[in-house]
Amino acid sequence: MIVLDRLTKRYDATIAVDQLSLTVAAGSICVLVGASGCGKSTTLRLINRLIEPDGGRVLIGGTDVASLPAVALRRRIGYVIQSIGLFPHWTIARNIATVPELLGWPAERIARRVDELLDLVGLDPDSYRDRRPHELSGGQQQRVGVARALAADPDLLLMDEPFGALDPVTRDGLQAALLDIQARTGKTVILVTHDIDEAIRLASRIAVLDDGRLIQQGSPREILTRPANRFVESFIGGPRLGLRLLQVTSVGERTDYEASAEGEPIAADAPLDMALARMVASGTDRLAVVDAAGRRGALALADVVAR
Ligand code: ADP
Ligand code: MG
Repeated sequence: MIVLDRLTKRYDATIAVDQLSLTVAAGSICVLVGASGCGKSTTLRLINRLIEPDGGRVLIGGTDVASLPAVALRRRIGYVIQSIGLFPHWTIARNIATVPELLGWPAERIARRVDELLDLVGLDPDSYRDRRPHELSGGQQQRVGVARALAADPDLLLMDEPFGALDPVTRDGLQAALLDIQARTGKTVILVTHDIDEAIRLASRIAVLDDGRLIQQGSPREILTRPANRFVESFIGGPRLGLRLLQVTSVGERTDYEASAEGEPIAADAPLDMALARMVASGTDRLAVVDAAGRRGALALADVVAR
């Protein structure tokens, strides 16, 4: 697990990160959210030691990162940034292989790893490995950026607004790909965004920052249902709060297992917003439900909108 312990970084009069303490469980996705300038990027750079703190510590698996050589540390941590930063004259394969090459892996192992990673991020190795970055769309390039960050199999992945520059459809696809990759590889991910909806979708835990300080941390549901103060309320609120609440509640929690309904059942672990969307699309106020054990029930519109 990753522990930030009273981490502090100053730039002249600005305190970019202010006594930030946070624990991230191994194998989870922690999302740092907050407005522009609140210290999110600085926090990530302190973790992989692109910059050094003025106070506090970062522990990875109990080891203080200050005790490790910075270059070696960064090779063990994947880092994905918004601008991607692929080398334009290198092939996709060579871009992905940057760290394995630095580590002196044999060519055959590198080639195997590149193909495995292209598969993992949803790009066909035969069609993509020999292309140059400009022959890919922005979304495909960002997939390559993720593959490159995973190349040497780091336990920790730092992602700084990785999908911020993409159109909504591409972003949606990459968010789904990240959730899938994380579930399959069990990586620990610390991801930064200013987009609360992205945080709700991706996070095991959300940490809300303001002015370099941690304001609240908790599961997406805790943050939405028990905001710690006005600041968090304003961040999560607005006209979409109701829809966000539906997103963090499962169909199963509102299902009547004594009842039944017609039609193709929706999965009990699906979120309520999906159930509502299905009701609207099919003009019905009842859906059949099936849970993982095959138990059947029904979901009524009145129970979707109940608080
Ligand atoms: P975020 O990623 O949340 O938008 P940053 O971590 O980039 O915010 O910045 C936090 C604060 O620190 C901002 O006020 C920013 O202007 C300041 N800051 C960041 N990097 C530097 C730097 N290299 N020199 C001076 N000030 C900086
Ligand atoms: Mg930033």
